Amino acid sequence: MPADVSLDAATASAAAAPSTGSSFLNFLGDNQLFQAGFGLLGVGAAMGIARTGAIWGTTMLRRRMLVSLEIDNRDRAYEWFLAWMAHRANNAASSASTARAAPWVRSHELSVETMIERRPNGSSSVFFQLVAGPGTHWFKYKGAWMQVKRERETRSMMGGQQAGMAVPWETVTLTTLSRDRKLFPELLAEARDLGMQGQEGKLVIHTAWGTEWRPFGKPRRKRPVQSVVLEPGMSEKIETDIKAFLARRQWYADRGIPYRRGYLFHGPPGSGKTSFIQALAGSLSYDICLLNLSERGLADDKLNHLLSNAPERSFVLIEDVDAAFNKRVQTTADGYQSSVTFSGFLNAIDGVASGEERIIFMTTNHVEHLDPALIRPGRVDFSVLIDDASPLQARILFERFYGGGANETDVSPEELETLAQNLEDIVAEKMKGGQRVSMAALQGHFIRNQPKDAVARSRDLFRE
Ligand code: ADP
Repeated sequence: MPADVSLDAATASAAAAPSTGSSFLNFLGDNQLFQAGFGLLGVGAAMGIARTGAIWGTTMLRRRMLVSLEIDNRDRAYEWFLAWMAHRANNAASSASTARAAPWVRSHELSVETMIERRPNGSSSVFFQLVAGPGTHWFKYKGAWMQVKRERETRSMMGGQQAGMAVPWETVTLTTLSRDRKLFPELLAEARDLGMQGQEGKLVIHTAWGTEWRPFGKPRRKRPVQSVVLEPGMSEKIETDIKAFLARRQWYADRGIPYRRGYLFHGPPGSGKTSFIQALAGSLSYDICLLNLSERGLADDKLNHLLSNAPERSFVLIEDVDAAFNKRVQTTADGYQSSVTFSGFLNAIDGVASGEERIIFMTTNHVEHLDPALIRPGRVDFSVLIDDASPLQARILFERFYGGGANETDVSPEELETLAQNLEDIVAEKMKGGQRVSMAALQGHFIRNQPKDAVARSRDLFRE
């Protein structure tokens, strides 16, 4: 009967009452659904613990076993390191037969760095370099794995002036096992050597990026000082002056005089002002810091900072210094007004804030437009006119071009001598009539013509 059955069941359960717990567990134990749930719970908890443990373990591991090195893009090591990585990648790609040479595990995240070099004659060259892009990369260095994390901070910018661009802050963080930490200095030294290698025996030109100086374009071949033909004796005079200055650091220090010297080269365009400064920098193994006062975003405080923080062994070169201050307010073609004031500029070149060596070269085509306050001693200590070609300069340039084995025509040395004399006479005669020719125009003319034609057609080059 159904009732009996239910009673029996109740009796049975009552009889079993004292051992409810165990039977309940048994019941649960027999219950497959519960088993699965409990199992899951257990696994979940275990995983949770494991995860926490793993995080803790990783953190501990990182702390104890890993070591990181952060380089940000204000540091020169930053460019060196990226270029070094790119260089390794290229080398590995060219020796692709050795699979071990694979440089980065995630080398598909590249970014391009473009450098545009504009030359005074208007031509320009563009260089590309593919470097590791933002993200995480891995590479092996001397048997040790290294992680490279390149991160870009887009919210804050390094105020840049170049073409109105601002530069994002960036960092690369290198991480490796603690036991391999000694490899960091080795790696950085290698990157530096590679970076400097291209510059050895070359002239490096820096331009302002925000408040920082950065090398601009590829380092150039040095130009011999003698290749810039100035009035006889002038080049030696300038060289002697600067060498004497460089030898007197202690003399200045002992007297508490700011250790700086200002040079002003004035004269018509194309007379060799810039070329000479560059050649001089090269001969003394100095870099050039090119400063454009009309540059967008340049204000007094930035200018001051830049002048106080020019790289060591560098000339600050300010071209066309008259152009920046010939009006009260400087306005560029697109209507932008420069915020460098004349007094701010004077303060900056006085270098109030710094006792470091400072050599400033200024050039102008219009010395008469310059404020006397700028050209007083202490600001400009050495002022020199670098003029259009004198008869002798024209002759020397001619001889440099075609003489001494450089002459690929059938003109004999004797004929060449006569031609040089003719040219000298033409320049002298034209000068008497108030006509002149620039050295740049002569150079261009010599490049295009053979010696005889060069002299015969030289009369067309002169201007009033
Ligand atoms: P500036 O700065 O006086 O305007 P640059 O130095 O820019 O002149 O010269 C322009 C070009 O003319 C350069 O390619 C340079 O080689 C040539 N040049 C100008 N003056 C001379 C010079 N005195 N001797 C040799 N080359 C010169």
